[in-house]
Amino acid sequence: GGRSVTRSGHLPRILGLETEYAIVSHRIIPEQGKDTSPLSPAECIDELFRGTSTQNRARNRYLSNGGRLYVDLGSHPEYATAECSNARDVAVNDRAGEHLLLDLLNAANERLAIKNIRLHLLKTNTDSGDATFGCHENYQVLRETIESLDPGFISFLVTRIILTGAGGIDVKGNYVLSPRAFHIHQVTSADPTKQRPLIVTREEAHADAEKYARLQVTFGDSNMAETATEMKLRYTSTVLDYLEGGGTLADLALADPIAALRDTSRLGPDTALDLADGGTTTALKLQEHVLQRCEEQGSSELSDIRHMINCLKAGDSRSISDSVDWICKRGLLTQAAAKHQLDLASPLISRLNLAFHDIDEKHGLADRLRRAGNLKTLFDPEEIASAKTNPPGDTRARVRGYFISEADRLELQYSVSWTHVRLDSPPQPQIDLMDASSSQDKRVAALVEKMKTLPPQTLSALARLKAGLGPLH
Ligand code: ATP
Ligand code: MG
Ligand code: MG
Repeated sequence: GGRSVTRSGHLPRILGLETEYAIVSHRIIPEQGKDTSPLSPAECIDELFRGTSTQNRARNRYLSNGGRLYVDLGSHPEYATAECSNARDVAVNDRAGEHLLLDLLNAANERLAIKNIRLHLLKTNTDSGDATFGCHENYQVLRETIESLDPGFISFLVTRIILTGAGGIDVKGNYVLSPRAFHIHQVTSADPTKQRPLIVTREEAHADAEKYARLQVTFGDSNMAETATEMKLRYTSTVLDYLEGGGTLADLALADPIAALRDTSRLGPDTALDLADGGTTTALKLQEHVLQRCEEQGSSELSDIRHMINCLKAGDSRSISDSVDWICKRGLLTQAAAKHQLDLASPLISRLNLAFHDIDEKHGLADRLRRAGNLKTLFDPEEIASAKTNPPGDTRARVRGYFISEADRLELQYSVSWTHVRLDSPPQPQIDLMDASSSQDKRVAALVEKMKTLPPQTLSALARLKAGLGPLH
């Protein structure tokens, strides 16, 4: 059959975001001069999940909102949003994941208070040491898009940090736009953990792999401004629309994308970058070229990005400080450094840097900045709360979410992945869901109807324990 094209003329774009969190522990009253980490990373995770009735299952599960919460190797929690059809849904689902973790965190901290220990979850890509944490953007693209990837798309990605960077301090104590830039070594690779690339072309497309591929952008920063998360996914998706609509960025290929990423991170939007064809450009100029081409091709909804580019061109970063993480954080850290006559490398400034990423509503800075209007918001609390349990209505996540919530309600055993659902008690054939844009499935609807008529489950206590379901009541 032909390609199914949406009303806007583009292929249905599926988007998803994976966010890894750093987890750390502190003594509430540290001994003088000591900043202790009383718990190991593994112990932190144990404490975080101790309150859940089904501890092992809680550490790796798909949720009724279509997302996935799991603990990766190296003891850090990760939340992967459901498949979404648009960037706004991605951003609210990412915030919902943050709040699901926050619920676990608050409960854990109540239990730990008696020991004078407090856990912190940081939505950051680098900690005070050597560790880095991923923020992986997923874009469903045509297979041919990935097979002959436009080198100008890479130029777009590495210079995108002038709008999307989270800001930070490098080893020498200099302020940088994206600290993660210095941990990236390759443009592309098949293994995201080993070489730390810009993008990964995942073998698991989570879709019909003959037609589609999943482009995973693995070098990006987690953003605390909700608008920044939304803008990042929308802008990148629009550039992919532009390319898949026949546009080209090949003339914008950079001589050395990794060097350009680092230079831009260190030296900012106006630093000179070498083009592959021998000319020079800057991150800002390059972003403007890309934006202009998308606008000329008729992409709408780019006016906020145009505004940001114009402000940067005019040297007016102050006006967009509430929408660009690195600018907001730079103001915060440089003011504190000036006030206390410290340089950016000092431990106090480093702690302030991490507090920007602390998701705790009382102890972290992000929530305070949001309330004070210093970080833009898109969602009211009700919208975030709703996304904790309800899936997006227009993707495969809706089918998965419905199956999970019904199976949980009926206390049935099942297995789920991005591309299948299966009832295991009593065993039923697996249902494959290869179309990520399809929000309805007759087979799953029929299965759920059947589930409702099943006699009440009479699993023995032992079987329930084995299934990780916990005691009956
Ligand atoms: P891992 O992170 O464990 O190495 P993975 O990349 O498959 O493996 P998950 O953490 O399971 O990662 O997250 C997968 C992400 O891909 C989710 O955010 C999900 O919404 C998104 N996704 C699912 N289906 C598609 C698709 N067809 N195209 C693009 N993204 C998708
Ligand atoms: Mg993942
Ligand atoms: Mg991944």
